[in-house]
Amino acid sequence: MLCISLVVWLGYGGEAEADTNFKWETVKYNGVDYVTLRSVKDFYYFNKIRYGAVITMESPSVAMEVRPGTQRCRMNGVLFILSYPVIERNGRYLLSRTDLNKLVDPIMRPTYIHRARHFNTVVLDAGHGGKDSGSLGPYENEKVYTLKVARLAREILQKNGYRVVMTRDSDISVSLANRVSIANEYPDAIFISIHFNSSNSRANGIETFTISPVGVPHMGREVKLRDFNTVPGNIMGSASIALATAAHSRALMYLNSQSSGNNFSIEDRGIKRARYNVLTGIKIPAILLEGGFLSNRNEAAKVRSPAYQQTLAVAIARAVDIYKKSTAKSR
Ligand SMILES: [Zn+2]
Repeated sequence: MLCISLVVWLGYGGEAEADTNFKWETVKYNGVDYVTLRSVKDFYYFNKIRYGAVITMESPSVAMEVRPGTQRCRMNGVLFILSYPVIERNGRYLLSRTDLNKLVDPIMRPTYIHRARHFNTVVLDAGHGGKDSGSLGPYENEKVYTLKVARLAREILQKNGYRVVMTRDSDISVSLANRVSIANEYPDAIFISIHFNSSNSRANGIETFTISPVGVPHMGREVKLRDFNTVPGNIMGSASIALATAAHSRALMYLNSQSSGNNFSIEDRGIKRARYNVLTGIKIPAILLEGGFLSNRNEAAKVRSPAYQQTLAVAIARAVDIYKKSTAKSR
């Protein structure tokens, strides 16, 4: 049954609850809690909204775009895959409260992420290693590139004054459980896992994963009962989406930079939700960046180039600074 009510916002496990005076228009449909896009517009002072197959909302600093009936959302040009589709009911467009609190709010108001802590340590996780090669590529396998990019990023981060912890610094096997426990030894740190993708020979682009909110499955699979359990990764869910946004947007910006002479024409596959072990088990802000497809010959040739690896490393290091600055006022 569809019922629309005006309620005083009491929070939904998100930082938006700090603003208890705002009256959100909420709707429950098929067991999912939504807010109307109109109230999203009012709350964040979007001064323009245009309805159509794509709905766009603009404020002086942010342009937000959703496609009703889909989970696609763009904020300042960067693609996010929402936890639930935006739907239309009785002439109103609805955004899930999970997406409001766990995605839109931390991006619109990173200074309100009250759990984002001061940090000076970055845990870099070069995916795979040792007998686990990861994705197989025509030149080198995934484990080689993850370590190269992690080392390059470490160099820049250290120059910028950060302490860097590597989950591996050579071609060795490190279990996922060990990667989680290494990260959890540093409560005042952030965690960035570096990977390269594999699929069919045409798949291309970069994608960044953060923890699925409670009740939301791993990307592409059906929801299971256990998805409703809060996992350690959920504690820093809002901080993690802010970190993912910084890393993903910088990676795209730098890899596709027209001016630097390093335009690799990389596709944006979006910021997505997953339940990989390193995302569920880690208690500090954590993301997993897939830096291109080795199963695509053309893209593997780009990944192989030192300029590509260096550009990705620069983007990661820059994202750490941006995340740090954007969340700074919340402390
Ligand atoms: Zn991998």
